[in-house]
Amino acid sequence: MELKDIKIKRNVLLNPGPATTTDSVKLAQVVPDICPREKEFAGLMKGLRSDLLKVVHAPEDTYTSVLFCGSGTINIDICINSLVPEGKKILVVNNGAYNTRAVEVCEMYHIPHINLKSSIYEQPNLEDVEKTLKENPDVAVVYCCHHETGTGILNPIREIGALAHQYGAIFVSDTTSTLGMIPLDVVKDNVDFCMASAQKGLMAMSGLSFIIGRKDLIEASKNYPTRSYYCNLYLQYEYFEKTGEMHFTPPVQTIYATIQALKEYFEEGEVAKFARHHAVYEAIHKGIAELGLETVIDKKIESGLVVSVKYPENTNFSFEKVHNYCYERGYTIYPGKISTTNTFRLCSLGTITVEDIESFFVVLKAALEYYNIIK
Ligand SMILES: *Cc1c(COP(=O)(O)O)cnc(C)c1O
Repeated sequence: MELKDIKIKRNVLLNPGPATTTDSVKLAQVVPDICPREKEFAGLMKGLRSDLLKVVHAPEDTYTSVLFCGSGTINIDICINSLVPEGKKILVVNNGAYNTRAVEVCEMYHIPHINLKSSIYEQPNLEDVEKTLKENPDVAVVYCCHHETGTGILNPIREIGALAHQYGAIFVSDTTSTLGMIPLDVVKDNVDFCMASAQKGLMAMSGLSFIIGRKDLIEASKNYPTRSYYCNLYLQYEYFEKTGEMHFTPPVQTIYATIQALKEYFEEGEVAKFARHHAVYEAIHKGIAELGLETVIDKKIESGLVVSVKYPENTNFSFEKVHNYCYERGYTIYPGKISTTNTFRLCSLGTITVEDIESFFVVLKAALEYYNIIK
């Protein structure tokens, strides 16, 4: 029997990553043992880093990608602890849980910051962003999440990035839950640094995260205060420049999986992949409406990747029970991240199709009937 003939149970993950993957990506991890300090492995990482730039249309001469071993939050940590110069501030444009995570990183490192908090049900207000920048000329970095995965809201990063630049700051965007799904062009979108993890839009495995950003700014950060030994952007960049390797042990198998996932990404194509995720998202909305359930966020500002669904108003409803019913049948639904409303989330990440969603709603309906939540 060959590796490719192995049958692996297929689960449809409707959580916001790690996402459902192809078997070819799963099996790409089964390779002969290799020491990652071999030239062969550095060669693989070189190709991978260059492909990552292509995903976000970053020019090779001015941008670079730096790999890290860790989950997506490591990127938030690294960008914030590495890119704020002495005596300067970071402005976090905060409309939800993932931007709040960035604020928490600032607090943990005692980095001067402004937490520009706004409603989690809306996009940030650009006038407020501009006013804050005008009043605080010591802001060196503006930070905003592209897609607030907690609610499903897509933030206007191109406009926020333009404002940052207008006021002499750099712009860092957490694109973890959009990169590889919603087309992104770092130059046109005014993004100096973006980031993601292999297990989300690229549909690979967890353990590999990466930051894509401007080389000149990374080089300038050499003289900024160092706040972490393991998680420093300049040090990892410099190590890659000198040796082509990660400073410390890379997630070897995840790197093989990501290389295969990128191959499949370019085969599917940016536009076709975006259209597929969008069709899956529309199918989710259709299924929710047919069950008489309600969503929380105005569809006009949704990313098309996450739908926050209100709990049905029925005392028989238990997220856990419904989750378990679906889980046992191969479908994973995910709790919400909105503290003021009880919600669960259905997401269109991963290698899933409209047919998967239609089959899922047959199961969800059965679950709701089984527990007497709907008739
Ligand atoms: C998933 C995600 C992260 C990273 O979460 P980890 O659990 O650390 O992988 C960061 N930002 C956003 C917007 C995300 O969706």
